[in-house]
Formats: sequence, C-alpha cells, structure tokens
Amino acid sequence: MSVLVVGSIALDTVKTPLEEHADLLGGSASYAAVGASFFSPVNMVGVVGDDFPTAHVDYFRSRKIDLTGLQVATGKTFRWSGEYMWDLNTRETRSVELNVFEHFTPTLPAGYAETQIVLLANIAPSLQSHVLDQITQPRFIIADTMDLWINIANDDLRALLPRVDMLILNDGEARQFTSETSLIKAGAKIRALGPRFVAIKKGEHGCLLFGENEFFSCGAYPLEDIHDPTGAGDTFAGGLAGHLAAQGGGEISFSQLRKAVVFGSVLASFNVEAFSLERLRTLTAEEIAKRYKSFQLMSEFEALG
Ligand code: AMP
Repeated sequence: MSVLVVGSIALDTVKTPLEEHADLLGGSASYAAVGASFFSPVNMVGVVGDDFPTAHVDYFRSRKIDLTGLQVATGKTFRWSGEYMWDLNTRETRSVELNVFEHFTPTLPAGYAETQIVLLANIAPSLQSHVLDQITQPRFIIADTMDLWINIANDDLRALLPRVDMLILNDGEARQFTSETSLIKAGAKIRALGPRFVAIKKGEHGCLLFGENEFFSCGAYPLEDIHDPTGAGDTFAGGLAGHLAAQGGGEISFSQLRKAVVFGSVLASFNVEAFSLERLRTLTAEEIAKRYKSFQLMSEFEALG
C-alpha cells in the first residue's frame, strides 16, 4: 500500500552554532517522502523551479518515489533559511523566498486520488484541504502543521481538522494553538476539534500520542551528536505514515499507531545526525531495526523488577 505525500520541496540554508550550509535539499515533502520510502511506496506531490538540481530528482527516484505529481514550474524553487541557537532546539527563520511555491496548487495526477494513506506535510491548511477534496478512498489522513499557519491561517486549520484522522504538531505549537500550558489538556482540546489522534512532538524529549481514552509517551533516542534538526518532524511524520501503509488494510489500531510512532521517531533520530537528508542517503534497514530494538529496550520495565 502506498502513501501520498504532499508538501514543500525546498533549497535550504541552515546555520547551527558550529556549521553553515547553503542550497541544501529540504522541504517538508522531501523529508517526509524519503522517510516514508523506507517502509512503503510513495506518491509525491510538490513543486520545484527550473533551477532544481536534477541530482535531487534522481535521489527521489532512487528511493522509488513516484514523481508523476512533481510539478516543474518556470522560476526559482522555494527557499528557506534558518538558524539554530546553541541548544539546537530553538530556531529562527532568517528568510523565506516563496518563488514557484507562491502559486502552487496541489493537483493529484491520475492514480493518486485512490491512495489510502495520506500525509499532508507542512503547507498552508487551505492547500491541505484542497488535496482532500481530490481523495476518493481515504483510510487514514495525517496532517502536519506549524506555528505560521496557527498565526495566519487559524480558521483554515480549524476547517481542516474534522477531515483528518491525526494531527502532528510540536509542543510549542500545541500550546499556542490551544492556549493551554498543559500538553495533556492541549492534546484533548485538539482532539475535540476533529482528529481522532494527536501526536505532540517534544524535540529531543520524544513525543506524546493521544487517542480516545488512550495515551502513549515515546521517548527520544539518546543521541550524542545532533548536527541539524531541520526536517526531524517531517521525517517523523513520513516514517510514521510509511509504516502504517506497510501494515496493509483494515482499521488502524492504537497499537499499530504506537509502533508507527516509534518507527517515525527512529527515522527522525537518524535524520538529525547530519545536514539535509544526508544521513537518510546511507541509512539501511538493518540500522533502523537495530535502533527500533534500542527504543524497545529503553522503555522495558520488567528488567527493573
Ligand atoms: P521542520 O524542521 O520539520 O520544521 O521542517 C523544516 C523544513 O520545512 C525545511 O526544509 C523548510 O524548507 C520547510 N519549510 C519552512 N517553512 C515552510 C513553510 N512556510 N511551508 C512549507 N515548508 C516550509
């Protein structure tokens, strides 16, 4: 079973206290599609300009990502630049150039509308809704979002929520969106707006998953060296969606979702080990399985007696 991934494709410039790199492959759809591709086939929808390096397109192809939905428009690719503070958690956006992204309308090519697992990676909520208007057999729809849309497209985001099964956002965004200090209250409040499940990411502290009378707290892998946190959330969402798609048909249970959250966290933990998608380029199924096992052992209580 495939995953449909719709989102941004970007050329990023990223600065951390120790390093700066320009013109990196980035964007929510890039991270999410490659993340999902470790578990399932992917149909990708996004836009790039005519300056987008063919090497990046070849890389997507090498991951067996279907690119029929990739639009190439005349003009420059979307560019984003961000700077991380010393804690590598706090980030400031330095610049955004929308370029061809400004007039992007996500149109699904023939064959994509039937994709059952849909990941609406971070783009404007009105565009996310436009994708859902074209979907014919939704089984599980996941939406990611960010502080920008909570600020400037709050009504659109609220209109999207009853249409999705799961919303993913980070702790700061959840507090901002609900005006709650408690993440537990924030999770419940977001669920009341529509999605049956909510995942709240806590950066280096893991992730909380909320369902109806169900709750799961996933720890974070204790990494010594984080080089670039960009795209961790998108890779998490992609890994999660890909893992769900790999489970086949039928109703998605909370325990399936829990496992998918751990696999998403595993992928995100690899992604931050290098800039851009570099670590994902060399990542193997064996490494994923080994780190999943480490996550399991980290939350093993029997051993404590
Ligand atoms: P994350 O670190 O998960 O927040 O995702 C970072 C990625 O999101 C970067 O590669 C950016 O290119 C992309 N991005 C930044 N701002 C936006 C935006 N307004 N819409 C869509 N994608 C964005």
